[in-house]
Amino acid sequence: MFSRFVPFPLFFLTPYRLPLTCLRSLAPLGIAGTAQRSIPTPYRRATLDPARLIADNAGRMSQATRADIERAIRNVPDFPKPGIQFKDITPVLSDGRLLEATIQLLIDGHRHQGVDKVVGIDARGFIFGAAAAVKLGAGFVPIRKKGKLPWNTHEQSYDLEYGSATVAIHVDAVKPGERVLLMDDLLATGGTAAAAVQLLEKLGAQIVGVNFVIELGFLDGRKRLNGYPVDALVRY
Ligand code: AMP
Repeated sequence: MFSRFVPFPLFFLTPYRLPLTCLRSLAPLGIAGTAQRSIPTPYRRATLDPARLIADNAGRMSQATRADIERAIRNVPDFPKPGIQFKDITPVLSDGRLLEATIQLLIDGHRHQGVDKVVGIDARGFIFGAAAAVKLGAGFVPIRKKGKLPWNTHEQSYDLEYGSATVAIHVDAVKPGERVLLMDDLLATGGTAAAAVQLLEKLGAQIVGVNFVIELGFLDGRKRLNGYPVDALVRY
């Protein structure tokens, strides 16, 4: 018969100890109670109290403006080829305050529209689109360059200055009637966004907005998105 009491040295070898050891190994993942206790108080409140998190985000957003975002965008002449002035958004991405303001401004006006999916265009549209989807409580869908998506796709080609390009979407990425917010980093001639819109129409999506961080207004890309609500945070 086993005694109800385990001698002290044997305690470390018994099954009594096992659950405790498992819990400790989960601590670095923030799952076990011990990890929660080690987090400094202000962080703990921000992570655990959703109401406070929203208030913090709103407060911080008001500190950065469209003008701040515009100032941070870097102009890179002659990239990727001579004559193109590339709008480099990486300084916006690397600044937490500007990144958050950008996402908040992109979703402004769409918070109460019941957006089901945010669709981002390959590749920088993924960054803003995915973050916006999380904030809106929506799903995220990528529109990719041809040949990158693994499942069955619809494809749409469009003209470039020299040649053409093709974008694709999974056939089951958006259900008919779902409310979709389309996003990319930059609107230039509008060819890419117009092709994305055509793909979404093919799936029966209801497009509630087409949003960009930057619009090169002098290229008049908007006219190719006629009839859709288009918005951009910074215009050149
Ligand atoms: P477009 O189809 O002409 O409207 O081109 C839009 C796409 O090309 C976007 O996905 C942008 O990321 C990219 N793009 C076009 N022009 C520029 C530019 N001057 N700077 C940065 N990205 C650009």
